Amino acid sequence: MSLSCFDLGERMLSVAEACEATAALAVAPLPAEWQPLAHLHGRVLAESLISPIDAPQNTNAAMDGIALAWPARETPPESWPLVGEVFAGRCHPTPLAPGECVRITTGAPLPAGADTVIMREQLDEAAGRVRVRHPDRVRTGQNVRAAGEDIACGATALAAGVRLGAAELGLLASLGLAGALVHRRPRVALFSTGDEVTAPGEALPPAGIFDANRFSLRGLVAECGGEVIDLGILPDDQPRIVAALAAAAHEADLVITSGGVSVGEADRVRAALAEVGELGFWKIAMRPGRPLACGRLGESGTPFFGLPGNPVAAMVTFLQFVAPLLRRLQGVRDAWPRRLTALAGEALASRAGRVDFLRGVLESDPEGRLWVRSTGRQGSGILTSMVAADCLIEIDAERDGVDCGQPVTVQPLSDHLF
Ligand code: AMP
Ligand code: MG
Repeated sequence: MSLSCFDLGERMLSVAEACEATAALAVAPLPAEWQPLAHLHGRVLAESLISPIDAPQNTNAAMDGIALAWPARETPPESWPLVGEVFAGRCHPTPLAPGECVRITTGAPLPAGADTVIMREQLDEAAGRVRVRHPDRVRTGQNVRAAGEDIACGATALAAGVRLGAAELGLLASLGLAGALVHRRPRVALFSTGDEVTAPGEALPPAGIFDANRFSLRGLVAECGGEVIDLGILPDDQPRIVAALAAAAHEADLVITSGGVSVGEADRVRAALAEVGELGFWKIAMRPGRPLACGRLGESGTPFFGLPGNPVAAMVTFLQFVAPLLRRLQGVRDAWPRRLTALAGEALASRAGRVDFLRGVLESDPEGRLWVRSTGRQGSGILTSMVAADCLIEIDAERDGVDCGQPVTVQPLSDHLF
């Protein structure tokens, strides 16, 4: 049974239940569009790509040297007549007869009849003949790249749902494909809420706080492949919030706010949100990160997340719940955060009954084992802990602290959150 945002009520949810319910907000990936190669970085394939050619096209030399047909059994000749040369970009016009060789450069197609390349450094050349210094070391077929050995014509080069990074772009280009069908980027409307929240660049009022969340969330949205619609800061004012949410629901694929959902503020914002959509307000058994509002807005049913105001909590909840949804909207199949296991380099505090997400730093020892330490103070307003971290340490709800040396789950943080 899949959970919906709305039938979860007021009880404390487990992280797993919250993940399942938020996943249900993206029923299908966004529509596909064709984009040229130069615009494909970070996009997600909407269809599997079948190679239209053998890559490489020809069986070719992997080294500079000579190409020849190496005799399988009988003793090879002392020296070989050099009957021509073939450079990259050219084809040798005639087949090689047994006992003949041609000079060849890396990438040049092997002439018909040749099967082996011997590198230049292992040859002596005089009077139009070539002597192989160590014939005993030559293996038939050496230093040759077979046609289609990277990808054969008709084979699946890249599967639908793959995110196109540097290597994938190189592969696409190597097949001569000038573009590909990818899912549209999600448009993400973003605003901060709070009378105290002040835009950077403005004077900080005596009881003000600079708007950190809009900028950390902008970064996270971009790293997840989304396009940001920045709607600024809203005061704690119900009609303003209602109007902004209703407008955002029209132009965005996902709407995110931060702040205004904590106890005491919840009622006012809840009332505002209830006017524009169907929303659940959750307490999730995790730290940092509660509470969270989640649901759909307006007639369009645009997915919505009301993230906590505390800056670390906003980022952690984004990473757990919003990032997977953004990946799903782009057609990524394995959308959950990547998890590894590391050994605790120190005792880590956590409480049973909730998932604790600590900010951590990874290190590997000479034996190749991965160790993780906490970044230090872990308050949900300590944004420097996110700066210092290269992973989140995820301590499950069953555990009451982690002893030094025990294994623990980590979620690596990176610039690309796919
Ligand atoms: P709230 O959920 O609105 O009660 O906010 C919880 C805490 O996060 C409060 O201390 C807020 O001042 C702070 N906060 C809310 N929004 C932001 C923001 N955009 N940037 C930095 N801190 C914020
Ligand atoms: Mg607030």
